[in-house]
Amino acid sequence: MSLITTTKIWLSSPHMGEKEQIYVKEAFDTNWVAPLGPNVNLFEKSIESYIDNDVHVAALSSGTAAIHLALEILGVSKGDEVICQSFTFSASANPILYLGATPVFVDSEKDTWNISPELLKKAIEDRISKGKKPKAIVAVHLYGMPYNVSELERISMEHDIPIVEDSAEALGSSYDNRRCGSFGKIGILSFNGNKIITTSGGGALVTKKLKYKERAIFLATQARDDAPHYQHSNVGYNYRMSNVLAGIGRGQMEVLNDRVEARRANFEFYKSKLSHIEEIEFLHEPDGYFSNRWLTCILTPTFEVREKIRLELLENDVESRPLWKPMHLQPIFEKYANYSDGTSADLFERGLCLPSGSNLSQEDLNRIVDLIINVFKL
Ligand SMILES: *Cc1c(COP(=O)(O)O)cnc(C)c1O
Repeated sequence: MSLITTTKIWLSSPHMGEKEQIYVKEAFDTNWVAPLGPNVNLFEKSIESYIDNDVHVAALSSGTAAIHLALEILGVSKGDEVICQSFTFSASANPILYLGATPVFVDSEKDTWNISPELLKKAIEDRISKGKKPKAIVAVHLYGMPYNVSELERISMEHDIPIVEDSAEALGSSYDNRRCGSFGKIGILSFNGNKIITTSGGGALVTKKLKYKERAIFLATQARDDAPHYQHSNVGYNYRMSNVLAGIGRGQMEVLNDRVEARRANFEFYKSKLSHIEEIEFLHEPDGYFSNRWLTCILTPTFEVREKIRLELLENDVESRPLWKPMHLQPIFEKYANYSDGTSADLFERGLCLPSGSNLSQEDLNRIVDLIINVFKL
């Protein structure tokens, strides 16, 4: 146990700028306290102009809701198969089950830790040979590192299977100077409390097709037909973003570039202080890839070393977390087909996410690095 009292260091905590409360107050002052209003429209506009001027954005209550609507809009329904990157957070896969469809999991490549183009090809061909062409592919830019966009686009075109681009962790990342969120037939973002910017809870659907945005808003607001009374010919959802929370989002968009810079600086700091330790590896940014470095992750030689570091940090009030446990190893998903070569299982065993908030102080960062260095001195 440490004898010095210190404040807890979190993995990734919210970091407000200066304008959020002003925009929230605007919502109160004008009584737009509803899941629609000027903040929602302006928040959507700011994301559109940030990502790419030809995308359309629908602000929603969560990233999970956005994935659910994306799959539904692409026609996924009961009995369909949907390919999903195995190495991800469960929210990438759960909406497949909401729709009564069946997930098929695909393992990662070592270069980006994201869906392996090779295994993806193999999975698609195998599913087709079994008489079941997958309806969609959920690909993820994990920890902010883009997936292999050009290969994924090629495979998606060749087989005519649309990609749902899970960009929940990658707002501010880019590939060949194109911003993440703009690659899938439909992309999704998350503004949950731990993401690079937050609305406390929230998400968005991003698409180049205006009719998909309109469909998303229609479904997200209870699927009301055009009639003076309440008339419904579709199952609807209550998934729209609150105008109060969109006020936070407007403020956060104004500081997004600073947040990306700060997270990337965290990564560079850790790398400069820790890469002399032979047992610690970092994920390299391949040519043409730009990661927002949402979380800085390290790879250790073994599960035991990873645990030693994690427990040393925990004892000293520093939160860290093992990398995502792959979906094909999760009790809820292990019964579904998977195409794996052990890559993500290995990353899960040996990898650790370090505190990565854009609001960490230099003192915090020094404390974390010293604790890790100490583990290797023992
Ligand atoms: C956070 C996250 C989601 C879900 O977003 P919510 O806004 O929390 O619903 C989906 N996919 C990934 C990869 C995430 O990290």
